[in-house]
Amino acid sequence: MNERESLKINAQGHLEIGGADCVELAKEFGTPLYVFDEAYIRKMMRVYRETIENHYDGNGMVLYASKAFSCKAIYRIADEEKIGIDVVSGGELYTALQADFPAKNIYMHGNNKLDYEIGEALDAGIGCIVADAYSEIDKIDAEAKKRGIQQKILLRINPGVEAHTHAFVQTATTDSKFGFSIQDGTAEQVTAYALTKKHIVLDGYHCHIGSQIFEKQSFVVAVEKCMQFALEMKNRLNFTLKTLNLGGGYGIWYTDEDRKLSPEGYAEYLEALIATVKRCATESGMPLPFLLIEPGRSIVGEAGITLYTVGAIKDIPGVKKYVAVDGGMFDNPRYALYQSKYTPVLANRATENNTEIVSIAGKCCESGDLIAVNVALPKANSGDILAILSTGAYNYSMAMNYNRNKIPPCVLVKDGKAEYIVRPQTYEDLTRNDVIPNRLQKKP
Ligand SMILES: *Cc1c(COP(=O)(O)O)cnc(C)c1O
Repeated sequence: MNERESLKINAQGHLEIGGADCVELAKEFGTPLYVFDEAYIRKMMRVYRETIENHYDGNGMVLYASKAFSCKAIYRIADEEKIGIDVVSGGELYTALQADFPAKNIYMHGNNKLDYEIGEALDAGIGCIVADAYSEIDKIDAEAKKRGIQQKILLRINPGVEAHTHAFVQTATTDSKFGFSIQDGTAEQVTAYALTKKHIVLDGYHCHIGSQIFEKQSFVVAVEKCMQFALEMKNRLNFTLKTLNLGGGYGIWYTDEDRKLSPEGYAEYLEALIATVKRCATESGMPLPFLLIEPGRSIVGEAGITLYTVGAIKDIPGVKKYVAVDGGMFDNPRYALYQSKYTPVLANRATENNTEIVSIAGKCCESGDLIAVNVALPKANSGDILAILSTGAYNYSMAMNYNRNKIPPCVLVKDGKAEYIVRPQTYEDLTRNDVIPNRLQKKP
């Protein structure tokens, strides 16, 4: 098993997360169960914040991209760690406000923000909206006018850098639904347009080049393109860049095919970005912009694991062996969506050597309901506790009730003690909004 910050194997040979024995957690809270290590989350938030403090005179802010994992408790942690957040829907905004998150440190994203979401954002007084369509600019301007305010916005631009885990490409044209392209001139046109709006303050630009990226150079190239574009806008439109938001996307360890970075390793990504911003500003004579980054996955991903109980085991001799668990695509749809890879560990027998290649299947009525395919494991038995590692990001936040399975609860571990941060769903929750019209009521 990969040596990680949060995980270790204890004297009983059980997997531990944040000092809590996973077998005990499974007993106390049942399975499936999402478990988060608070110390890891805080450490990642702190590493990013301190990098901006130490290398950029604190002239910036970390925004936790809360789509990775959204619930009230995570917003409290972000606030305590003195970082901001971004939200991508009215629901995330509502959750953050319910957790008393300061509105001024909230940024709102989305390629198609709904009218009511823009209204809710302005009513809350959020710090900034990242606009990604002409219609949105019109709407924000109109809603701000109604309220007699000026709303700060950034424009989402597309620098034409598309990054993947181990490589990146620079494209002249782009078919992304996100952002205004620098290359084809639309980013300039929308800048000019936004500057005409009386109730909008255009503060700068945002770019986000992808997710699960390890290629440092792709981030560097994106910064260079954004800074070059900002210089052109200064010269052509007399617009001075005040804020530059560089998005998130730093990769995490899922399997040994991925790099394993220490929290300090992530600081190096940010240091490279900061050095590039400084160099470009010096070369162009522009003032240093206020710097924002939006890591999501790298803050919560490796902080979380999912615990399951092994149920049915199906051996198709010479073909495949399935180990089925009490969860599946309803708590982790990422294999079904992207063929994502994960590492399993038998939490109750964590010291045993892997002896078989198996596939971990869920319990949904769907052949594609898999968690991990062709992974190494000791011989698993019914009743074993299986941990899937690095599930803290984009698992709970993507969970669903397919087959009317209950979305598992989330617990947060601190100093070996676990508490609910999301309670278990009940069957009552699943049927809460169901209605039987009168004409369909069972006749007596
Ligand atoms: C998804 C997203 C992020 C976070 O990406 P991670 O890969 O989780 O770090 C940040 N900014 C924007 C605009 C996003 O869409």
